[in-house]
Amino acid sequence: MNTLSKSSSVFAEAKLYIPGGVNSPVRSFRSVGGNPPFITRGEGSKLYDLDGNNYIDYVLSYGPLLLGHAHPVVTEAVQEAAAKGTSFGAPTGAEVALAKLVCELVPSMDMVRMVNSGTEATMSAIRLARAYTGRDCIVKFIGCYHGHSDALLVHAGSGATTFGVPDSPGVTKGTAETTLSVPFNDLPALENVFAEKGKEIAAVIMEPTPGNMGLVLPKDGYLQAIRKLTKKYGSLLIIDEVMSGFRSAQGGSQSLYHIEPDITCLGKVIGGGLPVAAYGGKREIMNWVSPVGPMYQAGTLSGNPLAMAAGIAALTYMKENDVCATLTKRNAELTDALKAAADAAGVPVQVPRLGSMFTVFFSEKEVTNYEDATACNLDAFRIYFHSMLEQGVYLPPSQFETNFISLAHSDEDFAKTAAAAKVAFTKVA
Ligand code: PLP
Repeated sequence: MNTLSKSSSVFAEAKLYIPGGVNSPVRSFRSVGGNPPFITRGEGSKLYDLDGNNYIDYVLSYGPLLLGHAHPVVTEAVQEAAAKGTSFGAPTGAEVALAKLVCELVPSMDMVRMVNSGTEATMSAIRLARAYTGRDCIVKFIGCYHGHSDALLVHAGSGATTFGVPDSPGVTKGTAETTLSVPFNDLPALENVFAEKGKEIAAVIMEPTPGNMGLVLPKDGYLQAIRKLTKKYGSLLIIDEVMSGFRSAQGGSQSLYHIEPDITCLGKVIGGGLPVAAYGGKREIMNWVSPVGPMYQAGTLSGNPLAMAAGIAALTYMKENDVCATLTKRNAELTDALKAAADAAGVPVQVPRLGSMFTVFFSEKEVTNYEDATACNLDAFRIYFHSMLEQGVYLPPSQFETNFISLAHSDEDFAKTAAAAKVAFTKVA
C-alpha cells in the first residue's frame, strides 16, 4: 500500500500559506477524504510523488495532456522558445501560427484571440456576445462549468458542485440575475426561457458534451435544436470546448454533432500543458474585439511565446498522427474493461465515453443531467477512488469530473487499471 507521509507533511505546511493547501480547489481531496500526494514529476502516463509512489494518471492536469506528461515534442519546443526569451509584449509569428492552426482544425472559427485560461475565454466570449447583440442575459446549463468568472458561477459544476457551492458567495445579485439556468438535455425548459425572455438573451453558453458534472452526452437532436432556437431569437451560441476541444474529436464536439456555433471557447489541450486558451468565431463577430472594435479585452501574457510553442507542437503532433481517432478506439477498450469489472462485482455503474474522455458514474440509470449526476452513490465513489489510488491509479477526486486518457497510456497501463478496478469494485459491492 502507498504511504504518503512526506506528502502529508508538505500538505500541512501548504495549508498554512495557501487556502486549503491547493491553488485550485479540485486538487484537494476534501470531498473524498485524505491527503493528496504531492507530485514531483510526470512522464508519459505516469505521475511520481514525493514519497516514491507512481500512479497511472487519468487526470492529466484536468485534460490538457493529450500526448501524456513531458512529451518530447512539447518539452523541446518549450525549451527552444525559452532560450529566446520568455515574454515580449509584442506580436510574434508563433501567435499567427497557432491561430492559423486552430482556425484550420475548428472551421467555425474564422478568427481567434489567445488568452491564458478557459475562464478568460468564456468571460470574454460572453462580453463579446453582449456587445454584439446589445442584450444582457445569458443562458447556461445547470451543472456545466465555464470557469470562475462571476456571471458563470451560477449553478456551476466541477469543483463548485463538489464543494457544494454551485452559486458562489461574492457574485452580486445583479450579475446572477442576468444568468438564466436550465437543466441540460431538457429542450422544453430552454424553449420556455426563450419564450419568456428571448429578446433579452445575448447568448446561450454550453458545454456541448458536458464534462463538469462527470461526462454527460446530449440526447439525439438536442444540440441542433438549440442552434435553431438561438438563431430564431437572434441570440448567439457559444460552444465552450475548453474541455472537449481536441478531446471528443479533433474538431471538437461541434464537429461530431454537426453544429456551427457563433463563438467557440478553447483551452486545455490547445496549450499542450501550458496556460493557453482562446475564443473565436465568425469574422463579423470577432471584428467587435478591440483594437478593431469596441469590446475591450487584453492580457499582458496572452500569446506568450513558450505557451504558443507548446500549443503548436502538441496540436501539430496531434493532427499529423491522428491522435484523436487513436484515443477514441483505445478509450473504448479501457471503458469496456471497467464496465465489465463493475458488472462482475455486481456494482451498478454507467460508463459514458467520448473521444479520450470517460466517467464511471455510480448510478443504476443513465446520467443525463445534473440531477442524475448528483443522485449518484458518492460513498461508493469514495471507496472506489481510494482503492484505485492505493493501487497506483490516480483519478479525479470527485464524481463530478471527467477522466482522460493520453497517447502515452499503454496496454499494460490499461490492464493494470482494469485489474485495480476489479479489486475496487469488489470493495464497493
Ligand atoms: N470551460 C470548461 C468547459 C472547463 O472544463 C473549464 C475548466 O475546467 C473552464 C472553462 C475553465 O478553464 P480554466 O480552469 O483554464 O480557467
